[in-house]
Amino acid sequence: MRLTRTIVILAVFTLLLLVGCATPRAVRLASHGASPGASSPAAVPSGSAVPTSPSAASASAASPDYAPPEPASLEPASPGPSASGAGTSGVGLAEVGPFGAAPTDPAPTDPALADPALASFLAQLPRFAPPPPPRPVAVPVGPAVPIYTRLPVDQPVAFLTMDDGWTQLPEAIPLMRAAHIPFTMFLIAPVAAGSPAFFDQLRSAGGVVEDHTINHPELRGRAYASQRDEICGARDSLVRTFGTGPSLFRPPYGDYDSTTLRVAHDCGLRVAVDWSETVDSGTIRYQTNDHRIRPGDIILMHFRPAFVRDVIAALTAIHDAGLTPALLESYLS
Ligand SMILES: [Zn+2]
Repeated sequence: MRLTRTIVILAVFTLLLLVGCATPRAVRLASHGASPGASSPAAVPSGSAVPTSPSAASASAASPDYAPPEPASLEPASPGPSASGAGTSGVGLAEVGPFGAAPTDPAPTDPALADPALASFLAQLPRFAPPPPPRPVAVPVGPAVPIYTRLPVDQPVAFLTMDDGWTQLPEAIPLMRAAHIPFTMFLIAPVAAGSPAFFDQLRSAGGVVEDHTINHPELRGRAYASQRDEICGARDSLVRTFGTGPSLFRPPYGDYDSTTLRVAHDCGLRVAVDWSETVDSGTIRYQTNDHRIRPGDIILMHFRPAFVRDVIAALTAIHDAGLTPALLESYLS
């Protein structure tokens, strides 16, 4: 009996021991099973696009047209070189435009050409006859450069200019290649120096790079030496980046004083240029009531998320006015 009772006790003990081991194992499995669910939300932010960067944020504080992304424009991120054509930029091009803050390595190829959305935009590009042989305006020579908001030309031409350079859409390259027009880029020198390949491709597509300072400050009222640092410094930087020097200058915000024009002259530039119309988000903002581009007008746009729509809007307005895009520099020799 005693032996039997001992066997029973041992059997019960063994059974309890087995149950005791199984319980924590079950708990471990349950917690493990929950783990992927808990960790998946954490994976989302790392893969999501936040279109800001420290440099963009500081630039934004400096000036409205200096910085690329405006706080409200939370567009999809730039598709990047590895994105497939299908997903890249239908969305970006159609309504908002993919963008990144001053990317340092824009896609050099044209995968966007396979994108139906870009193809539809390219189909909207107006076709122009070649511009006539230019009859340049007589640029006054003196101790200060002249500044123009439009050129007093007697030929049916207008001039497209693009400022700053922060938002570098890969789609800009095939777009400007397809547009077959001359244009002028007033670039912030360090922005240009940060992405020479991108701007070199635009130069190959018809763009000319000009001086738009180093830090994009409000120049009016600054001392000669300060303005010289900005304008001559940008000129020198652009020479280092592209191997050729600028001949035109655009003051940030269009603001300048007599010192600005003297400094531009002393930095070896020939003309300062403001603008007649601006384009933003695909809309032309006319500065006259007739809402029409006139011969000699200088149109200002920026390297912004709406770059594609802005180019198409500007060229459509030029075309509707019976004009042809011409190279600003060739009318200021
Ligand atoms: Zn600017």
